[in-house]
Amino acid sequence: MPRFSGADVLLSLTRKDFYQIAYIAEKGKDPQLRAEGVESFRARVARIRPDLADRVDEISSMDDLHLLDVKLNRIKPWHKPGLLLIGDAAHAMSPAGGVGINLAIQDAVAAAQRIARPLLQGTLGESDLASVQKRRWFPTVVIQNVQLVIQKAVFGPAVKGRLMGPPSPVVFVALHVPWFRKLPALMIAFGPRPEHAPDFARRKSAVTRKSV
Ligand SMILES: Cc1cc2nc3c(=O)[nH]c(=O)nc-3n(C[C@H](O)[C@H](O)[C@H](O)COP(=O)(O)OP(=O)(O)OC[C@H]3O[C@@H](n4cnc5c(N)ncnc54)[C@H](O)[C@@H]3O)c2cc1C
Repeated sequence: MPRFSGADVLLSLTRKDFYQIAYIAEKGKDPQLRAEGVESFRARVARIRPDLADRVDEISSMDDLHLLDVKLNRIKPWHKPGLLLIGDAAHAMSPAGGVGINLAIQDAVAAAQRIARPLLQGTLGESDLASVQKRRWFPTVVIQNVQLVIQKAVFGPAVKGRLMGPPSPVVFVALHVPWFRKLPALMIAFGPRPEHAPDFARRKSAVTRKSV
């Protein structure tokens, strides 16, 4: 869960022997943060995560920070003769929910299902490429709209200092309706349209297990 403090939002992932930390900032704030310097940034992190205060010196300079510009969009169409775009090339995902990589992999699986055989047979046409977009358009639109809602309801107001955490109705439902907590996990893991790797792409043991 992200941590909120004033207009500061921090998300940390605990790796084996380090923390990977995302500081979420309003667009255009990067130059201001860098101008304030590393001491000020360390203080921000320590304020939001007091448990990390004794190690913020690990951020040795502002050069340790990398700006990742968040975009949420999609193009149409994803294909031209001889070209198919999938993943972020077709639909840039925001970090909200941590699903962009899953969606990109699912696109790749759907593409393998639809274009590997015609490619091998030398019969690939634009309709094969179009079938990949047709299959993946719906889950992309659904997930991007969920990301948009999270952005508008949580991160947008939070980086303006107007919200200190997820909206309370969401917290209430999450605390009192146990099955609701499973929804995000299912959405992240499988998405609204799960894909299944074609047999030729599976390890032999996996194919055997499936056919048994
Ligand atoms: C700040 C931020 C945080 C995010 N956090 C998460 C997260 O926690 N979980 C999650 O699931 N998603 C997250 N996302 C979304 C996720 O990063 C993308 O949806 C996902 O990486 C898309 O995968 P992709 O393979 O389509 O594209 P990319 O991961 O962008 O891969 C494209 C690759 O192509 C390479 N490339 C570009 N041009 C060329 C070229 N001309 N020649 C050769 N190679 C080239 C690039 O270097 C890159 O390695 C985040 C996005 C942002 C912006």
